[in-house]
This record gives sequence, C-alpha cells and structure tokens, in this order.
Amino acid sequence: MKSSLLRLWFARVIVLTQLIHGALSWGKEGHYTVCKIAESYFEEETVAAVKRLLPESAQGDLASVCSWPDEIKHHWQWRWTSPLHYVDTPDYRCNYLYCRDCHDTHKHQDRCVTGAIFNYTMQLMSASENSRRIVHYNLTEALMFLSHYIGDVHQPLHVGFLGDEGGNTITVRWYRRKTNLHHVWDNMIIESTLKTYYNKSLPLMIQALQANLTHGWSNDVPSWESCQLNQTACPNSTVVDVFRYASESISLACKYAYRNATPGTTLGDDYFLSRLPVVEKRLAQGGIRLAATLNRIFSSKPKLAGA
Ligand SMILES: [Zn+2]
Repeated sequence: MKSSLLRLWFARVIVLTQLIHGALSWGKEGHYTVCKIAESYFEEETVAAVKRLLPESAQGDLASVCSWPDEIKHHWQWRWTSPLHYVDTPDYRCNYLYCRDCHDTHKHQDRCVTGAIFNYTMQLMSASENSRRIVHYNLTEALMFLSHYIGDVHQPLHVGFLGDEGGNTITVRWYRRKTNLHHVWDNMIIESTLKTYYNKSLPLMIQALQANLTHGWSNDVPSWESCQLNQTACPNSTVVDVFRYASESISLACKYAYRNATPGTTLGDDYFLSRLPVVEKRLAQGGIRLAATLNRIFSSKPKLAGA
C-alpha cells in the first residue's frame, strides 16, 4: 500500500475509533476534570492509598487514568463492562429506581452504573477493612473503575431513557455539526466551553471550577458530599448516595438535556448557554463526591491490604 493511502486508512481508523469511543461516556476532558477536582480534596491517607494502587503508567496522577474504562470497553475481554457506564429508565419516567432500572439488556440485575459504583466501593472497602486477609480483587482496577463511574453517573444522559439510549439515537446539530444528543452532553458542551471561554485550555477550565468551589458553590459543597444517613453510618450509606446521584441525573436529563432537543433540532447559543451551568456543576459535584467516597474508604482505615 502506498504511504499516502496507508495514512488515509490510519486516519479513518482513528476517526472511527474516536466516534465509537465518544458514544458512551463523558469524554476524556470530562473524566479528567472530575478526577482532577477530586484529587485536590483527598485527605492525606487517601493520597497515599491512591498512589499505592495506581498503575505505573499513571505516574502518580489519578486523573490520567480516569478514562481507562472507556478505552478498554470495546476489547472482547472487557466487553462485559460496557453496560456499567450508564443506566436507563423507562421512557419519559423522570425518576430512577434501582430494582426497576439497574440491569443490563439481558435483565441481569445490578449490571449498571450505580451497581458498579456500589460493587467497586465494596471491593476497596473490604480490602481496607481486612488488611490482613488475602484479597482476591484487583484493587488497581477497582480504583480506576470507581473513579470513572462516579464521573459517568453525574452526566445527566448517563441516566436517560431506554428508548433513545440516553440520547444516543437522537440526531441533532450542535451548531453546524451533525451529532447526537448524548455526544453533546459528553463532549460538545465542554468542547465549546473550552473554545469560547478558556482559550482551549482544560487546566484553565478546571481552575475556574475549583475557584467556583471555594467561592460560588462553597455553601453547597457540604451537602453534596454529605451522606444521607448519619456520619458514623457513612461508609454503609454508599448505596443511598449513589441512588441520589442517579436520581439527580435523570431529573436534570428531563429538565435540561431532553428539553427542546427533539430529533432534527439545531442546538445553538440558547441551548449552550443555558445548559453550560448544569454541566459545570455536575463536573464539580462528581469531583467532590469521588473525593468524599475515597476519603471514606481510605482515611478512617489507615492500612490497605496488599496494595
Ligand atoms: Zn464511561
């Protein structure tokens, strides 16, 4: 094959891979942002435990591996993880119920994003509590999955309607580009924000969100990270908390994502400017809650087994 042809072929493969890749979760930027924000709220013991668990390729930075579950989900040996990135509710139901909704297409219970968060939290917790027992879980993977899925559950359309696959089958235009509604919420809103306000710099956007957390949102932060049950019962209330994150997402999906975004619609300034605050807040909440979850897992139990 001539080298120019070969290049073209490679380019097509890359574009195709990116299209498939972008279809199922906050894009790379979204996950990076959630994890970067979380890192700045880690307690000392969490910093140490996370460092011990991270793969070498992460070079000590959790954010750098937060998109890993998206990168592997199409490989055959990881395909079982695909349904763990989202949860569907019945069409036009703006609420979320674990028993009704958390299953895969074959109706296997617990196989959805909230089930996965619960599972990986429990794996890390049991390892942390039983520091002398041999732990059979892969805790490095558990940490990377948990960090990714807490990000995903905060993307409103990751808790969307079954019939349109969380907006994936709703074809719209984002300004002049043809895309789908799910992708708008995963990538396009963030992409346009970076271009419009941050000179295409992700670190600048993260900085702005962090500034907002210490000023504009500072009164809300304690309620974002708090457990629904009392503080001593906190670690066991993970289930309740995760339900809350999913319920918030479907209600935001109904109120903001699906509204005025029927198939064939062109979404422009009106949609962008009114939905941007929702995306910003969800990224920040995801970060705060990831940190709170990991702090609960690691900080009160200083020894982490086999890490
Ligand atoms: Zn995902």
